[in-house]
Amino acid sequence: MSKIILTGDRPTGKLHIGHYVGSLKRRVELQNTGEYDDIFIMIADAQALTDNADNPEKVRQNIVEVALDYLSCGLDPAVSTIFIQSMVPQLTELSFYYMNLVTVSRLQRNPTVKAEIQMRNFEASIPVGFFTYPISQAADITAFKATVVPVGEDQMPMIEQTKEIVHKFNYVYGETLVDPKIMLPDNKACLRLPGTDGSAKMSKSLGNCIYLSDSEQDVQKKIMSMFTDPTHLRVEDPGHVEGNPVFIYLDAFCRDEHFAEFWPEYQNLQEVKDHYTRGGLGDVKVKRFLNSVMQAELAPIRERRAQWEKDIPAVYEILKKGSERAEAVAAQTLAEVREAMKINYFDDMALIKEQAERYK
Ligand code: ATP
Ligand code: MG
Repeated sequence: MSKIILTGDRPTGKLHIGHYVGSLKRRVELQNTGEYDDIFIMIADAQALTDNADNPEKVRQNIVEVALDYLSCGLDPAVSTIFIQSMVPQLTELSFYYMNLVTVSRLQRNPTVKAEIQMRNFEASIPVGFFTYPISQAADITAFKATVVPVGEDQMPMIEQTKEIVHKFNYVYGETLVDPKIMLPDNKACLRLPGTDGSAKMSKSLGNCIYLSDSEQDVQKKIMSMFTDPTHLRVEDPGHVEGNPVFIYLDAFCRDEHFAEFWPEYQNLQEVKDHYTRGGLGDVKVKRFLNSVMQAELAPIRERRAQWEKDIPAVYEILKKGSERAEAVAAQTLAEVREAMKINYFDDMALIKEQAERYK
């Protein structure tokens, strides 16, 4: 069986280091293994509009930002098909058919959607499109016959929902859709990177992000003013590393070789954690180290971005070509879906003949 990847991001802002460790970095690594037959990376503008209907300009502006972030992280358009969701209308049609296979109560149980509804104060009036976005995500994944979906932990319920739709569809209409597998980050710290303010998730919508496109100075400023352990008041006080975002970022980004380069007093992160927990290690020192580690990771991304920023028309051309290719692939799946659902009236010679016989 072919190995196919589908994943993507909502163009609701520039991409941040949570996206990077949660999914983007993994995609680039998977792309570079050469083991995948096809890789589709989607900029989910239609999904972004489900909770930004009154702000289409935000979505429109951020498409190129997300594309620039992709290219600067090393997604290669010659290998990975980068496309815009709304440019592939087959996805909307698939969603409409899948809606018949999902109940309202099932959608209401989706924990990520529940949390997002609360975060957006949608409790009193949820847009129908937003409520049903897990179904449209199933359309995105199945349209490309994806076998693997590399995403952050918050996407687990979406992949579960997709699998249920696949099973139900195949049961009712015959084996047609491919059952996808989620691929979560191996590193626990990367499952759901917290915000710089210490809140549970770094999120574009919460304004607690370090962006891949932030300048060196901005990254430094954000790191030096990060939330840490609020009980660690004086340097000599014992500190907590659990739930401390500075240490979670170090878990996500730092490698042993960073110590030799930036902080030779320690050999590895465990030694730093032990010292911090014992007391006697100040937050500023740890933050300075984190800053060095982050700058080392982000500098090449920033440089590649600066190159691509000089040729924005080329970026749009990549998206156009990618969208055309994605549409051709999705059209093939849609044809198979229509045939399985018996709504391929004009292509079904047997049906035409049968009806003709009936009226003889
Ligand atoms: P929005 O607030 O608009 O939903 P977002 O920051 O949650 O934006 P998405 O575009 O919804 O970003 O998510 C894109 C991908 O990045 C998904 O695979 C998601 O799991 C992953 N991701 C998002 N935030 C994080 C995070 N803080 N840690 C790890 N992965 C994340
Ligand atoms: Mg999100």
